[in-house]
Amino acid sequence: MKPSFFDLTYDDLKALLMEKGFTPFGATQMFDWVYKKWVHDPEAWTNVSKAAKEFFRENYDFSLLKIVWEGLSKDGTRKFLVKLADGQTVETVAIAARDRLTLCVSSQVGCAVGCTFCHTATQGLKRHLKPSEVVGQFLTVQKWLHDNVSLEEKLTNIVYMGQGEPLHNYENMKKSTEIFMSEKGLGLGQRRITLSTSGLVPAIEKLAVDFPPVNIAISLHSARNDVRTELMPINKVYDLERLFTAIKKIPLKAHRRITYEYLLIDGVNDSLEDVVALGNLLNTKESKINLIPFNEFPGSKYKRPSAEKILWFLDQMIKRGFTCTIRATKGSDILAACGQLKSEYEKINLWNETALTLRPSIPSSALQSPGQG
Ligand code: SF4
Repeated sequence: MKPSFFDLTYDDLKALLMEKGFTPFGATQMFDWVYKKWVHDPEAWTNVSKAAKEFFRENYDFSLLKIVWEGLSKDGTRKFLVKLADGQTVETVAIAARDRLTLCVSSQVGCAVGCTFCHTATQGLKRHLKPSEVVGQFLTVQKWLHDNVSLEEKLTNIVYMGQGEPLHNYENMKKSTEIFMSEKGLGLGQRRITLSTSGLVPAIEKLAVDFPPVNIAISLHSARNDVRTELMPINKVYDLERLFTAIKKIPLKAHRRITYEYLLIDGVNDSLEDVVALGNLLNTKESKINLIPFNEFPGSKYKRPSAEKILWFLDQMIKRGFTCTIRATKGSDILAACGQLKSEYEKINLWNETALTLRPSIPSSALQSPGQG
C-alpha cells in the first residue's frame, strides 16, 4: 500500500523533495494545490515539474476516507462513521455553535485509558491513527459538506476529543496538528485547535516543550484522588499532584487558559465536598471549567444529576470566581456518544455491512452526547 500524502508535514515534504533530487520550493506549490485548491491529482499541478508530478502519482496515495454512515441531529450536529484503509472505523463529529463549525476528531481506534464512564473504553485499544487518518477526517468531512450541504459550509475549528487519548499517540497527533496549522496549507490558527487529554503526565511534560501551542483541555472529572481514580484508572499512576506539577510547566502565555472538563455524575462528584476540592485545586485566573452533565447509556452504572443540581454546581463555581460553563448536549438524537455509534455499526456489520448505509434503526435509548470524556 502506498503511503498517504496527508502524512507529510510541510517540512517532511520539503525534506522528501530534496532527498529525491527535486527543488524543495515545490512543497509550497504542492501544499497549495492539495490543501487550498483541493486538487488531489498531481497530474493537474500545472506549476510542478513533470518528474515531480510523476513521482507523487506513482508513490503516494491521495485517497480520502470512506464515510460509511452519516447522521444529522435536530440541533445541526452531524456525526460520521469513517472507514480506514484496513477496514477499521472511527467516529468524527461536526458541531455547529455560534459562528463556528468544529470537527471533533478521533485519535485512536478504541482507547487504552479505560475511563469507567466512557463507551469507547469498552472497545480497548486497537491501534493508533496515522496523521493522514486525522487530517483525513477533516478533509473527508469538509468535502462531504461542500458536496452535500453548501460551498459555504466550512470547518473552522478542531477538537481532539473523539475516540482515543491523543497524547498516547503523541508523535502522530503532533504531526497532524502541524499539518492543520501550516500556513502553506489549511492554515488553522492555534486558537482554533484544542487538544484534550485524560492526563498522561510524561506526554504533558513533553507537550510543554515541543508541541505546537494549541489550546489544552484536561479531562479532570474530580479534584479528589479517590473519586478520580474510580472514574479514571490513569489517576492511579498519574495522580492529581503529579498531573498538576506537569500542567504548571505548560507555557500559559501561549495557551492562555487551560480548560478543565468536568463530567457531572449524580452522587459521585457533585457534592459540596467536590465543589470545595475543585475550588482549592484550580486557579481562577488560569482555568476555565466546562461542566458536562453525564448522559446515561445502556450498561452504564452512572446517572445524570438533576437540572437543579447541575445549576447549583455551576453557581458554586461562579461564586468562587471561576469562568464556568455547562456544555450543551449536542446530537443526542443521532448516536453522538463517543464510541457508541462504532459499537452499533460493528454489531450491525456482522449481519450486513451495506444495511448501514441505509441508516440502521437504533433505539433512541441508546443515544448520548459527543465527547463525554
Ligand atoms: S474518555 Fe477519552 S481517554 Fe477516557 S477511555 Fe474514553 S476515549 Fe479514552
